[in-house]
Amino acid sequence: MKSTTARDVRRWIRPLRGELRRLLQDLVKANSVAVLAGGNETPAQRVLQAFFREQGIRAELYSTDFIEDSGHPQLRRNKRYAGRKNLSVRLSGSGRGRSLLLNGHMDTVPPGNGGWSRSPWSGLSRQGCVHGLGSFDMKGGVVANAAVICALRREGVRLGGDLLFESVVDEEWGGGGGTIAARLRGDTADACVIPEGTQLEIYRATRGGFVVDLVIEAGDPAGYFSRAEVVSPALPMGRLLNWIDELVKERGTLPPKGAYLGFPDPAPVQVLAVEANRLDPTVPLSVPSRATVRVYLQFLPEENVDQVIAAVRKRLERFCASDPFFRKYPVQWKPLIGGPLYGHELPADHPWLECMQTSATSVLERPVVTTAAPYPCDAGLIHRDFGIPTLLFGPCGAGAHNPDEYVEFESVMETAEVLLSAALTWCSG
Ligand SMILES: [Zn+2]
Repeated sequence: MKSTTARDVRRWIRPLRGELRRLLQDLVKANSVAVLAGGNETPAQRVLQAFFREQGIRAELYSTDFIEDSGHPQLRRNKRYAGRKNLSVRLSGSGRGRSLLLNGHMDTVPPGNGGWSRSPWSGLSRQGCVHGLGSFDMKGGVVANAAVICALRREGVRLGGDLLFESVVDEEWGGGGGTIAARLRGDTADACVIPEGTQLEIYRATRGGFVVDLVIEAGDPAGYFSRAEVVSPALPMGRLLNWIDELVKERGTLPPKGAYLGFPDPAPVQVLAVEANRLDPTVPLSVPSRATVRVYLQFLPEENVDQVIAAVRKRLERFCASDPFFRKYPVQWKPLIGGPLYGHELPADHPWLECMQTSATSVLERPVVTTAAPYPCDAGLIHRDFGIPTLLFGPCGAGAHNPDEYVEFESVMETAEVLLSAALTWCSG
């Protein structure tokens, strides 16, 4: 096909601006929260399907619950998939080019406990930003992907290779279920891009991740108001936090490598929550009988994640053995989402990365940073388990997994332009 300039790409995407912003607002308004074991993505997927229908594009909504019987090694046994549907669009190419997958997830995390200045589902558009839960993570990116499909269809452009769009369920909470369903039904491609929020930078790598609850159970609530004082896990929890602090420092000395060069703490350990009793007016003055620390470990792409986790667990056992309280009340190891997520890294000279760098630089008319994601996501699964070279490139915004999340709408449009340019180049080769 004839060469397409950054100007052409803009000319194809810009007329869709109003419709795309409305679509993003409608998607944010459609609650698609996922919790640990399930998710409510399908109403939002129907909003997206209706949008495609108005554009004259057939989008297939399909069930994902067949994966529960798949025996896939990365399947999360604690999750349920009944009623959770993926949405898929395929633009068939002429057969003389590489295929490309535009992947995104429709589920959001829950809104958390307060702190939002307006409804998490407001979808409000103000001063160039669209506000609400999932706007940045990652309904803005899903809209950018949809824009690529719409622009090609409107212009009547047929690519060489197939272009596949998918909006999947169950990415949050370590999910991966929607993506596994999409791969197991046979949707594959020669490369993949996920427009998670990247501030218009290219991420060629993602981290692995693992969340574990360290639980201490001590004391006998029936002993309250008796002569012998109730055993409390509250102060020992301080020693446990100290132990975690040592782990934080040790992991903090890992030398950054590859795409993570320049990261001050390339594989961080964070405490996500600390709980022992609640400062809640409905809770009487009482000694906690249970205390929990939720720890989030991240891993560099080349690390042996299972080995690191096993070593941390061993180290915790040694710590417990050295402390009289924990000898009696050992810390329980309770992984929150089951097994870990694994990271990935695309080589710096990979042709898909070069294609994306060229497209981004020419469309944005400035040098574009290539770096690595400060988080794990479905990319690791797509790249490692299904062999599809995967990059992240997405819009600017803030507040992912926190109150007052927003996405800058102009950057959603720019994401769409870059992705369209990359698709035109990649799929013609
Ligand atoms: Zn996300």
